[in-house]
Amino acid sequence: MCPTMLRVKRQLTIIGTALVTLACGLSGPATSTDPAKPNIIVFLVDDLGWQDIAVPLTEVPTAFNLRYRTPNITALAAEGMKFTDHYAAAPVCTPTRTTLITGHSPAATHITNWTQREGQDTSAPYPLLLPPGWNVNGVSPSPMDHAFTSPLLPVLLREAGYHTIHVGKAHWGAVGTPGADPLALGFDVNIGGTAAGQPGSYLSEQHYSSGTEQGRFRDVPGLDKYYNTGTFLTEALTLEANQAIDNAVATGRPVFLHFAHFAVHTPIEADDRFMQHYLDMGLPPVEARYASLIEGVDKSVGDVLAHLDHRGLTDNTLVIYMSDNGGLAAHTRAAPVHVQNAPLRSGKGSGYEGGIRVPMIARWPGHVPAGSVSHVPTITDDIFPTLLEVAGVLNRDALTADLVGRSLQGLLGGADDISPDRPLLWHYPHFWGVEGPGIEPFSALRSGRFKLLFFYTDRRYELYDLDTDLGETVNLLSSHPADAARLSGMMRVALERAGAQLPLDPETREAVELPPLLTGR
Ligand code: CA
Repeated sequence: MCPTMLRVKRQLTIIGTALVTLACGLSGPATSTDPAKPNIIVFLVDDLGWQDIAVPLTEVPTAFNLRYRTPNITALAAEGMKFTDHYAAAPVCTPTRTTLITGHSPAATHITNWTQREGQDTSAPYPLLLPPGWNVNGVSPSPMDHAFTSPLLPVLLREAGYHTIHVGKAHWGAVGTPGADPLALGFDVNIGGTAAGQPGSYLSEQHYSSGTEQGRFRDVPGLDKYYNTGTFLTEALTLEANQAIDNAVATGRPVFLHFAHFAVHTPIEADDRFMQHYLDMGLPPVEARYASLIEGVDKSVGDVLAHLDHRGLTDNTLVIYMSDNGGLAAHTRAAPVHVQNAPLRSGKGSGYEGGIRVPMIARWPGHVPAGSVSHVPTITDDIFPTLLEVAGVLNRDALTADLVGRSLQGLLGGADDISPDRPLLWHYPHFWGVEGPGIEPFSALRSGRFKLLFFYTDRRYELYDLDTDLGETVNLLSSHPADAARLSGMMRVALERAGAQLPLDPETREAVELPPLLTGR
């Protein structure tokens, strides 16, 4: 049977399933083959760096592009659009994740750092500045707990008829708070998601647990049937995700799958299915293990996409692949540190590009031109309005009116309706706790080719031209005073508009002043 015939046959099977579902009185408002309600799959890979795929995001493939084997991501890019200048909303996990489901930037949510236990400020201590009174508990189902009142993405998609599934790392709310449970945040199904920012272990022999009382909250729940089967966590989640897709199809509703892999976050454990190749390359053991985590995610993406094809859903599904912050480069990796995202500077936790620039690839047959490339700077903030538009959420204009993010639906179709000069803001008023370039309290703003950083400890500005200096090596503050002044004004406006919380003076406990407006002289 030819592939087209196979696809028609699969779609008939699915329509048949939907009809049976209707007859049983279990129908939703739309079937998963309704073009007005495309299925949406977001792969959010944890700590995946800009260089951690085989797809080059630079003109010439880099050594890292050549190191990592990600054939399924390469195929995804060939069938869709790759974004060379996509950014995470924050240089660490939780703020980017909460931006994705709230639509609001970390500066606006006041969820500016990673969360752990209820009431716990995870900011590292430092004598020169104190962190502001940020929302240490993260996202909550109750608007009363937030600096914003708009509904969460999974709630809105569920109201729009979607069957909403979370798989993997959640990390939206602290241990002991309602926001720790994805089911409280609008998901119909939760597989493995808790307050934990990392798994206790990726290994089935360890029961996906650190095995310590202190680390008990990192146990990945609900995977008992995989214990001692040799099933790596990445694979167990993939099998569960595909089963969840089948269950979603049976409901007759379009599916929103938020598949947030624990990989490639620490603990950097070996995915033995993929280790030998990297050991044969002569990589240091930790780098071989890291590469095996990357390739495990690639296989997962391939398996889910193959399953979509098998169910006849490929043509009516938007797939987005991205990361929540830059690649880990400050610790745990093989020496030398801070170079794991080269040619970008530094890594996770930093205001430099290595901390925030991440891969993004989108595929949507018939909507996104195959093999296309976008150089327009985009950011996690854009995903919420994008998905509301894709899903046809009726009151999306009102819901997105006060957001800085923009729907990427036009851009995905090849339109140039988003200016490359629009300002993108990052705000991280914390010490992450690890030494490294740009790993200190900062605000940053990109507009077009220029990026301005402000570091709060010594109140210094740095300006870089990312078109000519991707590695942020030459500070143009003195040579380009007019550009620095222009961006400093944009940064102040963006911070004030967001209601950003600034670090505190340790003596007065008052917020420090906004970054100064530069004069241009
Ligand atoms: Ca992360």
